[in-house]
Amino acid sequence: MSEYPTNAPRRATRRVMVGAIGVGGGEPVRVQSMTTTRTGDYDATLQQILELATAGAEIVRVTVNDDAAAESLPRLVRSSTVPLVADIHFQHELALKAIAAGVAKLRINPGNIGSSDKVREVARAAQDRGIPIRIGVNKGSLHRRYEEMAAGDPAGAMVQSALDELEVLAAVGFTNVIVSLKSSEPREVIEACRRFSRQSDVPLHLGVTEAGTLQAGISRSVAAMSVLLSEGIGDTVRISLAADPVEEVTAAFHMLQALGLREGFARVVACPTCGRVEVDVVALARRVEELAKDLPPDRVIAVMGCIVNGPGEAKAADLGIAAGKTKVAIYRKGVLHRNIEKADLERVLIEEIDLLR
Ligand code: SF4
Repeated sequence: MSEYPTNAPRRATRRVMVGAIGVGGGEPVRVQSMTTTRTGDYDATLQQILELATAGAEIVRVTVNDDAAAESLPRLVRSSTVPLVADIHFQHELALKAIAAGVAKLRINPGNIGSSDKVREVARAAQDRGIPIRIGVNKGSLHRRYEEMAAGDPAGAMVQSALDELEVLAAVGFTNVIVSLKSSEPREVIEACRRFSRQSDVPLHLGVTEAGTLQAGISRSVAAMSVLLSEGIGDTVRISLAADPVEEVTAAFHMLQALGLREGFARVVACPTCGRVEVDVVALARRVEELAKDLPPDRVIAVMGCIVNGPGEAKAADLGIAAGKTKVAIYRKGVLHRNIEKADLERVLIEEIDLLR
């Protein structure tokens, strides 16, 4: 048995279906992303949805901010291979159009969707179609009635906003809900999600909003989410990045895999390189990652830059590569298997990685 648990104990939540994908209630932590195209541009949006789905996204959100977007939705819903979520701000009429178009979930922001009457109207339409609603609270766009509270207790204000909105929905019998409590400040996200999860069994979608560009965004998102997920909190995740959204999906799977919550990709171990390095480890490791994309996730490949520490690490992997001055040592399950010319590396890599399938 592993020294580490393969799964953190998970908070008990109700299960909500987003299309055919279960969220909460013991389902795996789901990976989501969002398109960056104009939803009215059907071709570009569909292409990005399919790219995200290929990368492993299980749920994809699209913005529905105008009539062109709403008109694009029925075809997108039909062509998408993953459930689509309509992201609605301000205009509840667009929420009604999105529901009619057949989306699998709505995301509304209680801070800007308008009166409780409008929320109730949307809830009734969602109820008729059997689709859930995500109450997406963002600290940056809280309704003004929470402003005073937010000044002293931002996490408390976010939680209160979500609970109040849940009450509005519950009053019309609508309980098919997911909640998110997002802020650009990871510590506020942690605090808000902890507090909410003590008070409700509604599944939580985790995210740090406006997290930043690739590196900063991943770091800030993982800082918050890994704390929460390790406490069993969080049923779906999105790592929001100012980058290609496919990166969001890859980063989310790496995070969940590192926490033992999902199987992701074969693991590519790469040395950080130093003055002894005999090969371009960065380029080589990237190439190996590419070639190893569809390998079973329990495979480990080590890419080591030299023969000083390289062989030791390379030996511990299913496939190990340790570069020397002119030759490269290839290990299979710890045993030196081949000593090849550097010029043959690409060809041998393809052969050897193929054998790990
Ligand atoms: S494996 Fe070699 S090149 Fe890589 S960090 Fe260690 S000593 Fe440096």
